Amino acid sequence: MEERKMTQPFINYAPETCAYCGGKGWAGVSHATCPACGGQGSVLVAQPARKCAFCGGKGWTGVRHHLCPACGGTGWAHALRHEE
Ligand SMILES: [Zn+2]
Ligand SMILES: [Zn+2]
Repeated sequence: MEERKMTQPFINYAPETCAYCGGKGWAGVSHATCPACGGQGSVLVAQPARKCAFCGGKGWTGVRHHLCPACGGTGWAHALRHEE
């Protein structure tokens, strides 16, 4: 029996707190629905969860809190976005 390197066809996803809104589901002074998680407060992240290297896990960049272009604001690498 030939030993084959294990590949992972199924990635395990687990809900993690959305970084952009901190789990509240809204962001900003107007309490607008969080663009990163769609108001859910959490996002599905491929496990093991790793923070987005681009924004350092904050979900935003710069002084104006621009949505991180790398993670979409979730703060996590390999997060599933709700929009499809
Ligand atoms: Zn959010
Ligand atoms: Zn990011």
